[in-house]
Amino acid sequence: MISQEIDFSPIIEILEDILGDYKMHNDYKGQISFDCPVCSYEIKGLDTGDGKGNLEVNYKYNVYKCWSCSESHDTHGSIYKLIKKYGTPRQLKKYQLLKPEENEDQPKKIYKQVKLPKEFISLSNVSKGLTLLPQYRQVLNYIKKRNITEEIIKKFNIGFCYDGEYANRVIIPSYDEDGKINYFTGRSYLTNVKLKYKNPEAEKEQIIFNEYLINWDNPIYIVEGPFDSIFLDNAIPMLGKKLSEKLSIKLYETAKKIIIVLDGDAWNDAERLYHKLNCGKLMGKVWIVQLPKDKDIADLQGNLNNFKIKQID
Ligand SMILES: [Zn+2]
Repeated sequence: MISQEIDFSPIIEILEDILGDYKMHNDYKGQISFDCPVCSYEIKGLDTGDGKGNLEVNYKYNVYKCWSCSESHDTHGSIYKLIKKYGTPRQLKKYQLLKPEENEDQPKKIYKQVKLPKEFISLSNVSKGLTLLPQYRQVLNYIKKRNITEEIIKKFNIGFCYDGEYANRVIIPSYDEDGKINYFTGRSYLTNVKLKYKNPEAEKEQIIFNEYLINWDNPIYIVEGPFDSIFLDNAIPMLGKKLSEKLSIKLYETAKKIIIVLDGDAWNDAERLYHKLNCGKLMGKVWIVQLPKDKDIADLQGNLNNFKIKQID
């Protein structure tokens, strides 16, 4: 199939006619941002845009989303929907003639570059004034209870937020192989909260958590979550019930030995994963550890000495 070169500038023109000047534009990704009309006019009652550029449009994937009000005001969907709501029938008709064909191989969602919350405070670098905060005492209590040592804090640049969207959460950041932030997990250090974990939206299929710390020549532990991974050397958390596509491929191509250690109550999942990985090039290189039903790696502080690392049929 011949890939078709599309001139997107008429689409950008329509978007500018409707939404005003764009704020940012990445023509390689086809991503362009504008002030969100809902945020500016409906929510804030402004006559002009709010200058934030929260509305992101990807004209290659025909989608848009406001990073601020998409959940509360349904400000996301197809560009068709966007133009239908804010444009003229003429603009809509023009857009339909110009828009690229839907391609099943392309992702349906667009993702924002993950950044650490701006309120993030690294626990290995807390200023004197902050140590007086009650939240600092709370986070320290939690860290102690979970047996997270200073060494672990340093190695993983663990921090916390006492303010903002991730307030009262311990944050474990993830950096890619070049040391660039690509994800984080936020675990509440308070009891009785609805959401134990709060994580940023990200294309998890493309993330290997803290890849820069992994030595692919050494045995690699596959564990459930980031809070397990910090207790073992060379461990990668799955960030969900299954391996990401990127991690599966990387393991298949590079791993010399894989050791699966999931929570004690997830033995069936662990077995399934074992059989999924133990084939082809990886045959015979996959091992598994069975933990007691009520235990996870954090409970054991990463000490697996009492458990057999085995292979199964
Ligand atoms: Zn908005």
